[in-house]
Amino acid sequence: MAHVVQAYKDVLSRVAAAYGRAVAAHPGIAAHRLPRLVAVSKTKPVQDVLAVHGAGCRDFGENYVQELIEKSAQFEAAAAAAGQDGRDIAWRFIGQLQSNKARQLVTSVPALHTVESVDSVKLANLLEKGVVEAARAPLHVYVQVNTSGEEQKGGVAPGDAPALAMHIMKECPHLKLAGLMTLGKLGEGASIYFERLVEERRRVADALGLPLHELELSMGMSADFEDAIACGSTSVRVGSSIFGERNYGGAAASGASAAAAAAAPVSAAGGAASGVSSSS
Ligand SMILES: *Cc1c(COP(=O)(O)O)cnc(C)c1O
Repeated sequence: MAHVVQAYKDVLSRVAAAYGRAVAAHPGIAAHRLPRLVAVSKTKPVQDVLAVHGAGCRDFGENYVQELIEKSAQFEAAAAAAGQDGRDIAWRFIGQLQSNKARQLVTSVPALHTVESVDSVKLANLLEKGVVEAARAPLHVYVQVNTSGEEQKGGVAPGDAPALAMHIMKECPHLKLAGLMTLGKLGEGASIYFERLVEERRRVADALGLPLHELELSMGMSADFEDAIACGSTSVRVGSSIFGERNYGGAAASGASAAAAAAAPVSAAGGAASGVSSSS
């Protein structure tokens, strides 16, 4: 596992360097603190999570409900066996979330910290109900924005985030609106999509009367996290640059083949093209 630890540390230094350049270039608009590095562990075994966790990472991103439920239980068991706290981790759900899985996600993953992919009032309401049922701490949520307008991607249209954000703030007392998330688009200068998310945050902040820095911007993946940080990202989601290419044929993706296929273009962002061809 030494290689994933080294890769994690390498990405961490690239995040710090990119942040340093952003602050130097735009003292006013840069993020107010070092962007968070979310290690995206989808399709990867819990051993990889444990290794990167041991190197200090606490934020892990996952895309598939069943896989996250299993991995979080495995993580808790491994931590307990080592005399550690299995809840000392912040799982972040970053994939498309079907309504019929929302309740299960919240009630079955005790250390679920954030759902980054909220894109409808219906989904927000189901998460709210799940939190109440689980009698757990408030769940952080991000509104996902489809900044590239591609049909297969989740997210509200630019301009529509303020209404959903308002709903969450007013009607979902057990959810904490923590920011906005976007995927951008592959194979093109990603910065125009990141700028759209920056613009959308301004609209949400205006509508809700919040200072900008209270709303995070989750943007940037393996292929483009440095560009995202230059645009003001406060949280980058990096998978293949830490854990290596993904293989969607494995057991980890069982029951999620459709979702894996939908996410396949995403894996290409990290140059992990083999993950695409092996999805079936
Ligand atoms: C898989 C995934 C990532 C990580 O992608 P890499 O290119 O492997 O870094 C980030 N965000 C989302 C939403 C993803 O699905």
